[in-house]
Amino acid sequence: MPKRLLLFAETTGYQIRTFAAAARRAGAELVLATNRCRHLDDPWGDHAIAVKFDRIAQSLETLEGVRCDGVAAVGDRPAVLAAHAAEALGLPFHSAQAAQACHDKFRARSILQAAGLPVPRFFEARGVEDAERAPYPCVLKPLGLSASRGVIRANDPAEFRAAYARIRRMGEERVQVEAYIPGREFAVEALMTNGEFRLLAIFDKPDPLEGPFFEETIYTTPSREKESVQRELVSATAAAACALGLHHGPVHAELRHNHEGAWVLEAHARPIGGLCARSLRFDCAGNGPAIPLEELIARQALGEDVRGYVRESQASGVMMIPIPREGLYESVEGVDRAGAVAGMEEVIVTAEPGQRFLTPPEGSSYLGFLFARADSPAVAEAALRRAHGELHFRFATRLETLSPST
Ligand code: ADP
Repeated sequence: MPKRLLLFAETTGYQIRTFAAAARRAGAELVLATNRCRHLDDPWGDHAIAVKFDRIAQSLETLEGVRCDGVAAVGDRPAVLAAHAAEALGLPFHSAQAAQACHDKFRARSILQAAGLPVPRFFEARGVEDAERAPYPCVLKPLGLSASRGVIRANDPAEFRAAYARIRRMGEERVQVEAYIPGREFAVEALMTNGEFRLLAIFDKPDPLEGPFFEETIYTTPSREKESVQRELVSATAAAACALGLHHGPVHAELRHNHEGAWVLEAHARPIGGLCARSLRFDCAGNGPAIPLEELIARQALGEDVRGYVRESQASGVMMIPIPREGLYESVEGVDRAGAVAGMEEVIVTAEPGQRFLTPPEGSSYLGFLFARADSPAVAEAALRRAHGELHFRFATRLETLSPST
């Protein structure tokens, strides 16, 4: 009987198909556990198991008796349920406690602080009057959101009050305040194997992320930083993963680096989000074609020793296409020209005509993704910027046209 990989995911898109193909290549089949609402018996034709990521106990009941040989997850909430399920099914993964801690900005900060890792001053705001006690500059972030949504820098009490009110208008009650950490930002991708940390890639984020909002754009790898900085980023991530109790499976961390060293902003019990994973491929001592990150994760979850895989030698970059302005997306021009730029590998526009986009901090999605591969990260970055310059997005000018008539 083929092995079975149980994948927890909220979406139905590309990454699931990549996991399904990866599982197949590893000689296994994929079983999907998802919260997509269930109107029919098998609406997606993929025999998905319907779970609710906010109802752990109920979902675990649904999963009882499911036969599988390994678990994997994409997204923070799915990672938490995956960790609970792995415990219930006796399969190796991150512990439920660790996955939950990573998903809780306050708890994660407290754990890192208790472990002696550098952490900015932080507290949960009690109200707008905290403008008087906040360290400046600071960052306000809603505890219930992710992907930089609602994260706002404030340089003084007036900006604090405006940011606080803005987050409350987004419907968020709980707000964390943190001292602003200056410096360059990075993402680190790693894999834990029974508590042993192994680096997969360091991404530089070449665009300055200084606020007031923190919209991500370009990631490139390998890092262009000097060895000593890279070592600090890796050892800070490893220490954070260890402190948080991340044990087995992928780790994705966001860090800043400045003259004081490396600061872990967040560490997650899951791989890099969505389509960005496409920028990572791995070789195994020149044996066979390079495999995607999803396949590395799938193989590890199914019990294979994947320590022989290293990131391919080519430099790679991804650009999350930012939202130029708020509105209803209509169309894009220049995709062919963007794709023809030397070094460009793929242009994926995920925006759907009629889809409404908000700019940060309220919005957080992207219009799509650009992927480049080149001999150096600088050339990959230049290709992404040139390709982006070829794209022209059209938005409807009158939002009111779609308002329901009353
Ligand atoms: P989210 O889970 O919403 O992505 P993060 O804590 O990762 O929240 O913050 C999103 C972005 O905001 C970070 O990638 C970083 O650019 C910026 N940021 C967050 N906290 C700080 C901080 N204390 N100092 C400086 N920048 C920060």
